[in-house]
Amino acid sequence: MAKLAIIGGGISGLAAGIYAQMNGIESEIFESHSVVGGQCTSWKRKGFHIDNCVHWMTGTSPQKEIYKVWQEVGVIQDPEKDIIRHDYFLQVDIDGVKAHVWRDLEKMRQELLSIAPEDHKEINNLIKLIKKFQAIELPSMFPQEQMGFCRNMKMLFKMLKVIPAFAKYKKLTLEEYAKLSKSPIIHQIIYNYVPKQFYVISAFYMYAMFSMGNADLPRGGSDTITNRMRDKYLSLGGKISVKKKALNTEIDNKKITKINFTDGTSVEPDYVVIATDLKVAFDLIGHNYMDNNLKQAFANTKTHPVFSNITIYFGVDCPTNDIPTMEIFNCEPYKIVDREHNVVIVNNYADQPGFAPEGKGIIQILMVQHDDEYQYWENLYKDPEAYKAEKQRIASEIQQRLEKHYPQYQGKLSLVEICTPKSFNRYLGSYKGSYMGFIQTPYAPKLVHHGNVEGIDNLCLAGQWLQTPGGLPNALVTGKFAIQRLIKRFHLADKFRQTN
Ligand SMILES: Cc1cc2nc3c(=O)[nH]c(=O)nc-3n(C[C@H](O)[C@H](O)[C@H](O)COP(=O)(O)OP(=O)(O)OC[C@H]3O[C@@H](n4cnc5c(N)ncnc54)[C@H](O)[C@@H]3O)c2cc1C
Repeated sequence: MAKLAIIGGGISGLAAGIYAQMNGIESEIFESHSVVGGQCTSWKRKGFHIDNCVHWMTGTSPQKEIYKVWQEVGVIQDPEKDIIRHDYFLQVDIDGVKAHVWRDLEKMRQELLSIAPEDHKEINNLIKLIKKFQAIELPSMFPQEQMGFCRNMKMLFKMLKVIPAFAKYKKLTLEEYAKLSKSPIIHQIIYNYVPKQFYVISAFYMYAMFSMGNADLPRGGSDTITNRMRDKYLSLGGKISVKKKALNTEIDNKKITKINFTDGTSVEPDYVVIATDLKVAFDLIGHNYMDNNLKQAFANTKTHPVFSNITIYFGVDCPTNDIPTMEIFNCEPYKIVDREHNVVIVNNYADQPGFAPEGKGIIQILMVQHDDEYQYWENLYKDPEAYKAEKQRIASEIQQRLEKHYPQYQGKLSLVEICTPKSFNRYLGSYKGSYMGFIQTPYAPKLVHHGNVEGIDNLCLAGQWLQTPGGLPNALVTGKFAIQRLIKRFHLADKFRQTN
């Protein structure tokens, strides 16, 4: 039986493992951390459940191909029970005026029109665009080169009605598009919670997926995704080795012949999938194997920026049912790494069972950190006292603003956990602390990498970095595609098996 080594046990590595086992390829996942899941993880702190990842999982509508993949890997089992579907994705509160991204787009249109009648043209256009972008499909059944003429045509046909809108708006950032409207509340609805240099299509896509019922929350959060995939993989006979950090690879005659680990051990696989952060992947095989497209992406932070976050978790000494699931409110400015911020982004986990002890609540604050801000965290981390003090300062600035915005929680908030871009880098090797791939900007075409590495035949790459802007669905499908590519290249099975 062919032996496959998978480096990295995030969602892409687990997906690769599941599809390898389904297709009779004996595999083992080598994960540097003490648990699998990668970014899609959680842990306990002071009696609270810290969910590191999921705010929305694309692929919750049976109308979309990706739904089937989530089913196959065991994440969606009973959609009625497994998926939490909210009426709105986001509440924006600017100076006390509230607007929502409703699932019901007519309700959203009416609410926005009543708040900002001066922007009626742009509001009507936005709703129209969101509806159009519901047609977008993330190809999930086969990698592009294996789709064949008929599937390619079918996919093109599905997307036909989006193409003109795509051509018209692909050159605009969120910020540029937002400025077509006058109202600050519409601006914030467009910006949502990601960096403003994302191309605006990301917002149309996000709201399109939500409004059509294709982007919701798994009950149990990130744990549900990771634990179910891990269990599925193990049930198919896969092996997981944790605390196994790959150090380098030996390459001979266009093949990876050996993977060496930091603990002094090594393995000699027939085939390899590297499902780590892309920078780590090329550290392991050598940057001379990086193709020009990727080299340019890493070299040009205007066309291919990355971003990270500071995430802060506050325990609340009472239930938090009156805080929206996700809210962005404006506030007195505060500074982080010399940049002024004037909003707070809050996630409330009130409807996730067991995330807080009985009678309490937990909320998460997200603060975007840009590419050029990463070095600050890298430097600060070298001075543990200063690093700790800065984290405390930021938490206390945010706490003041939360207590002003939610006066009913005054004296009831306590800091539970705070992660910086350096934390993501430290635990997972994330490039500049980025927990997604490259940002999709208007300045470069969408990056979709085939995972093949010229000069190493028995390797296929996987992971969110292969398809901008990353995220769980891209991690999932690239893991699957890596196995489809290896099977095709080496005739490892007569036919790719998609279900167990
Ligand atoms: C705060 C936050 C919020 C997010 N919200 C969402 C969301 O709402 N929706 C969404 O779709 N996505 C979201 N994401 C992104 C999502 O978590 C990622 O897209 C996805 O988990 C990436 O999976 P991956 O397998 O590609 O990479 P990773 O998760 O990075 O997995 C790579 C694995 O490789 C391991 N590794 C690294 N180096 C080595 C080595 N040398 N040897 C062995 N193993 C190694 C790492 O430890 C890691 O486990 C969020 C992430 C964060 C952090």
